[in-house]
Amino acid sequence: MSMRIRRSDMVAVMKGKDRGKHGKVIQVFPKEGRVVVEGLNIAVKHLRRHERRQKRGESPKGEKITFSAPMNVANVMLLCPACGKRTRIGIHVDEKRRRQRQCKKCKAVFV
Ligand SMILES: [Zn+2]
Repeated sequence: MSMRIRRSDMVAVMKGKDRGKHGKVIQVFPKEGRVVVEGLNIAVKHLRRHERRQKRGESPKGEKITFSAPMNVANVMLLCPACGKRTRIGIHVDEKRRRQRQCKKCKAVFV
């Protein structure tokens, strides 16, 4: 299935711990059907000592880093750049047979 959410889209999360929050898509994984939304789906990774670059003065213990983990694209909806509503995305084919995305609510066409 092709993925209609693209990088830089604003989306609303519909499911999971960040339900109701909005954010910007910063990475897409079309094959996996997953997207990374800036600042959402925060996960913690514990780095072991040997994974870190050794620097003078660093704590000898492992450290934690937080990052936005990929989430299922089915759990987000596009926020239409024209009307601002949560919407499903249609495909509009123009007279030159170019395929563009279209808001199902306000019918605005965008790339
Ligand atoms: Zn719209």
